[in-house]
Amino acid sequence: MAHIIDGRLIASQIRQEVKQAVLAHTSTGRRAPNLAVVLVGEDPASASYVRGKAKASAEVGIESDTLTFAETISEGELLAVVKRLNADHNVDGILVQLPLPAHIDDTRIINAISPEKDVDCFHPASVGRLSIGLDGYAPATPAGIVLLLERSNIETSGAHCVIIGRSNIVGKPLANLMLRKGIDATVTVCHSRTRGLPALARQADILVAAIGRAHFVTADMVKPGATVIDVGINRVSDPSRERGYRLVGDVDFDAVRPIAGHITPVPGGVGPMTIAVLLQNTLKAATT
Ligand code: NDP
Repeated sequence: MAHIIDGRLIASQIRQEVKQAVLAHTSTGRRAPNLAVVLVGEDPASASYVRGKAKASAEVGIESDTLTFAETISEGELLAVVKRLNADHNVDGILVQLPLPAHIDDTRIINAISPEKDVDCFHPASVGRLSIGLDGYAPATPAGIVLLLERSNIETSGAHCVIIGRSNIVGKPLANLMLRKGIDATVTVCHSRTRGLPALARQADILVAAIGRAHFVTADMVKPGATVIDVGINRVSDPSRERGYRLVGDVDFDAVRPIAGHITPVPGGVGPMTIAVLLQNTLKAATT
């Protein structure tokens, strides 16, 4: 029966470490790290993520300002906001909550963020630094996964890591991180056109599911003893819950747990790590 990797516990340890480091930083008379969060429109999920980031920042002593704009803001106006934040010496990190409304080009906005303040690690310069192994900001979800592996003493050196999903926010940056010297995994990245995916998944010592399909990874796709990291967040209907749904991952947890060596739950696995890494990045922005 797999050991459950407790993302809530590991994330709370990291938040505690950030809090101590923020205290050490401000105790010398310097101002607290500052994160500017830009939210456009009224998408409830985006608003809830932004509230979560603001609350987590406050808990560790990071100041965060949420700048909220109507859905009707133009691309030019939003670019001007980003430029103003780039120039503001009291702002250390800038985060633009995605997705943006359809009339605004996400890429153009992300590319306008100063790479020194790009705590989400989405700017092409940040992605480039990551891919050639230079120091920089860590991509939040992938770096959170690496921290989960490290703090659970999962051997990555020489391990075969199979990642299902090639998105720019999870699959690709995770592949880059897992390939890094010091982490040293052998990486296979799968996607919707991959042939023989179940057989590839069965070769994984570390199997990462970042697909966005409930229960995609079944027991027959997992090698006995493998570490299974579930990034997916999917709503499935559940009339027994007041809200009518529950959240499940991309892995069929109940079927896979008896086979795997380690497994992350959903919720409570990768999810809490994402914000913890964002806090680490904001601290880094203020202190380097
Ligand atoms: P994307 O939709 O951007 O990417 C999904 C990937 O899965 C694509 O590469 C796609 O392949 C691949 N895929 C889809 N269907 C199949 C299939 N049948 N077989 C093989 N591969 C397939 O998703 P994200 O990476 O943004 O997110 C993935 C999941 O992780 C979502 O559930 C999301 O909510 C969750 N998530 C969780 C986070 C957290 O903090 N816990 C953070 C970010 C995401 P192709 O490229 O060929 O289309």
